[in-house]
Amino acid sequence: MIEEYFFTCPYCWQRISVLLDLSTPEQTYIEDCEVCCRPIRIRYAAVQDEVVDFAAESIEQ
Ligand SMILES: [Zn+2]
Repeated sequence: MIEEYFFTCPYCWQRISVLLDLSTPEQTYIEDCEVCCRPIRIRYAAVQDEVVDFAAESIEQ
């Protein structure tokens, strides 16, 4: 199951969305913000097609 998940970009604070594949119980990957194009580390966990944990973090020091 693919779900569109909305969150706030840690750089530009715009509300953006990602598509999460909820058939994978846990994933971490880098995705560029669709507004400011800076890399965001997306981390999430899913249980029975429900997002139970989600984090979007800046990877820049
Ligand atoms: Zn952004």
